[in-house]
Amino acid sequence: MSQVLCEELAVNGGVPVRTVPLPWELPGSHWIGEEEMDLVGKVLSSRSPFRYYGPHLEHMVDTLEQEFAARLGRRYALATGSGTAALMCALGALDVGPGDEVLLSGYLWVSCLGAIVRLGAIPRLVDIDDTFCMSPTDLSRKISSRSKALLLVHMSGAPGDLDAILPVARDAGLPVIEDCAQANGASYRGKPVGSQGDLAIFSFQLNKNMTAGEGGIVVCNDEHFYKRCFAIHDMGYARNAEGRLDPDDEQYQLWGIGARMSELAGAMSLAQLRKLDSITGAMRESKYAIRREIEQIEGLQCRRIVDPKGDSGPFLIVTLPSAEVCEAFAKALHAEGIRGPEGSFACIAMENWGLHWHWNNLSLVNRRGQSNTGRPWTDPANAFANEYSYERGACPNCDDLASRSILLTIASCLTQGDVSDIVEAYKKVANALL
Ligand SMILES: *Cc1c(COP(=O)(O)O)cnc(C)c1O
Repeated sequence: MSQVLCEELAVNGGVPVRTVPLPWELPGSHWIGEEEMDLVGKVLSSRSPFRYYGPHLEHMVDTLEQEFAARLGRRYALATGSGTAALMCALGALDVGPGDEVLLSGYLWVSCLGAIVRLGAIPRLVDIDDTFCMSPTDLSRKISSRSKALLLVHMSGAPGDLDAILPVARDAGLPVIEDCAQANGASYRGKPVGSQGDLAIFSFQLNKNMTAGEGGIVVCNDEHFYKRCFAIHDMGYARNAEGRLDPDDEQYQLWGIGARMSELAGAMSLAQLRKLDSITGAMRESKYAIRREIEQIEGLQCRRIVDPKGDSGPFLIVTLPSAEVCEAFAKALHAEGIRGPEGSFACIAMENWGLHWHWNNLSLVNRRGQSNTGRPWTDPANAFANEYSYERGACPNCDDLASRSILLTIASCLTQGDVSDIVEAYKKVANALL
């Protein structure tokens, strides 16, 4: 045992492993450079920031869509103003509405709930397992005659056990939307996330693996789904070859949400997409350098990653024997200097992971409506949901894992020094507390 492991913990007045804050998470942002400036600059110089027409269109969003679809082997990609908008499109493509429930894990992001509720449908919570993604066993328990779609959220950088989950959905005839917002660039046994669901969505918001500040994309193979997504993301209609709205096609006379992507966001997204594998590669390398060193520690359990080669890498999650130990462990890590700059989320006890846990989504727990009619909860078509619970307790594994786990963000620019400080701190704290 190295000497430092025997030293007094910083939380008890000992010398901390480090004092310089770890870098901000925000994976794509560390890689912004000439390429982004060049492509965004082209859009500005051409004075054509709108994607569908303009004097000297650079077709940045078109190119982004082509390259994104090609990566995933999908026929269609449609860029949107955000990942949440992409979710609204994907759910809308499947005609989700009143009388329907959409199954999703209780470890989630608020957008998933918002998109379902905004369409007048009901979220149905499914518990997670040690992958921190949906439990296939609980999924088969929760599927009912009301289930319209499975929203499969690939949480915290890596998918769950897709080979166990997808057949359950397929056997029940349930279409699948993959939410890849937190796992862009990840894969499962050689297949990229977003390549298997009937539809899949991604986000380019600042916290995601590649970023344009804001942005999203929805992908699919089915032309009908694509056309519905198109009309929904825009003004409710198709567009013609000149980029003008074309309300004539009766099948695609819908209502739009005004969530097109601008050429500026398209240019930045395109530059970032071309770096995505480098960004995730850097995070994965740091993460597994840390994991290899700490996974032998007795009493500390690393999140189960079904296919580590396909992990996009932005988060390291460990689970401890009890809530008390977890709280003390997180506090001790902070004191050792395992924390980020003010305002960042470098290292937190997952109990404090906010809107990622269903019970912290108070609009859900309190069944807030889209308007003062109280819909969708008061809609007679949704009466089946009166007994559904959204409070803590609805998903026992979520409760348990939230109370005993610590999440560390893995910045895409960690140095070897940062990595060895992190390893040293985890070992030092484990040695004292476990
Ligand atoms: C970030 C995120 C979204 C939404 O993306 P925005 O671009 O912020 O609208 C959707 N789902 C999950 C799981 C996310 O993490």
